[in-house]
Amino acid sequence: MGAEASQTRPVRVRLAPSPTGTLHIGTARTAVFNWLFAHHCGGQFLLRIEDTDKERSKPEFTANILAGLQWLGLHWDGDPVIQSARVELHRAAIQQLLDSGHAYRCYATEAELTAMRELQAASKQAPRYDNRHRDLSPEQEQGFIAEGREAVVRFRIDDNRTISWCDLVRGTMRWSGADLGGDMVIARRAPADQIGDPLYNLVVVVDDAAMAISHVIRGEDHLANTAKQLLLYEALGYPLPEFAHTPLILNKEGKKLSKRDGVTSISDFQAMGYTAQALANYMTLLGWSPPEGMGERFSLAEAAAAFGFERVNKAGARFDWDKLNWLNGQVLREQGADALRGQLLPLWVARGWAVQRETAEAAADAIIPVHADPAWQLALVELLAPSLTLLADGVEQAEPFFTTPPLNQAAAAQLETEGARPALAALAAALEKHGPAAAALSGDQAQALLGEAATAAGVKKGVIMKSLRAALLGSLQGPDLLTTWLLLMRSNDALPRIQRCL
Ligand code: GLU
Repeated sequence: MGAEASQTRPVRVRLAPSPTGTLHIGTARTAVFNWLFAHHCGGQFLLRIEDTDKERSKPEFTANILAGLQWLGLHWDGDPVIQSARVELHRAAIQQLLDSGHAYRCYATEAELTAMRELQAASKQAPRYDNRHRDLSPEQEQGFIAEGREAVVRFRIDDNRTISWCDLVRGTMRWSGADLGGDMVIARRAPADQIGDPLYNLVVVVDDAAMAISHVIRGEDHLANTAKQLLLYEALGYPLPEFAHTPLILNKEGKKLSKRDGVTSISDFQAMGYTAQALANYMTLLGWSPPEGMGERFSLAEAAAAFGFERVNKAGARFDWDKLNWLNGQVLREQGADALRGQLLPLWVARGWAVQRETAEAAADAIIPVHADPAWQLALVELLAPSLTLLADGVEQAEPFFTTPPLNQAAAAQLETEGARPALAALAAALEKHGPAAAALSGDQAQALLGEAATAAGVKKGVIMKSLRAALLGSLQGPDLLTTWLLLMRSNDALPRIQRCL
């Protein structure tokens, strides 16, 4: 069978999630590729909720999936199709296959099938249905029915068939009918005058055809299903879609990313503080290489303009936290310091920092406390922005600018080094001499003060710088020292923090 899809159909793609769990990163990445392709072609991106597994499907998972897609900006066209509402259509297709002889009822009991598989295992054969009820005579069937046996419906798969298609990612694909496990169950067990619950491969084909899906884009774990589904398309006389199978997402060890790898739900990433833009951008890079010169930070719309399956890799895509973190920092920074301040301010205020004192006692001095001064806050945001990965980092890293931090071990040790305290004492004396004017020192003046204090104490400039950082931030780590110091002088916090160390 050579699948030749028609080139002229309007592009209609779909995401078909099963609401048996929260929106998984693998499903979301499949959604991204569908969305990108639809938008690249000016086509439609549809959504179908595959809720036929009644036991495991839950409305709250559907809600989580819809919310996650919306949050990521992966808006779909039209209303979601609810698969369970279409079961009569699925049954009608099964009836059609029974009528045309492509399908038949199989009365083998679970015990018989188990015995069959045990025999296969004992002789080291791959487990498969041995097609034992494929050509029952009417008398044999009547006999099973008289015994009260129920039946599944099976679809004939000819062992001698070769199924091939031209996959948009993987090129020519070939499957032997013999490798598909024997005649496939398309309806669950039911009394022989009924058709039981229709099963995955059958319902997907019926629904994709009814929705006029032109391209089926899904994970490579569905390759064997595609081979089976192509046979169903043929038997049902439906036009064929094209197929694109995207690579798996792998963990650090190169194994398929699973629940055991921790964070895998889109809502988890959201709760951790990742932005939708960074996550959507990152998922685009999980298996797609943007064209030369495009860089790695882009919007979904920009990616859609450049998207094509020729740049989707066959090999699995390793999940790279560093890249996701880098992208998130980029997204935070590219909105500009003003907007970033707007995002951080409520978080700071919630911690009791940066609150403008508007109470009666404070009104006595009409001066806005420096921590509440937008210009000071903006300078703080500009100082911290380069090192932010998540928005929450802008709370953690801002803390020592609002409240005096205790000295950590390394900072305390630094103050014990020779010359550290005399140098800080010289600096404190110089600042005291400046009085309130210290709050307005320029960078050059501050540099000069450092140099003078170092000379007065007979230490290298490095010693006083490290000691000053220890005194101001309680740590040897932090952002640019001179800017830190100037900011803390503006809020009158620098001198007391130095003095506490003397
Ligand atoms: N419900 C299936 C899944 O979640 C859909 C697969 C497909 O895209 O056909 O894996």
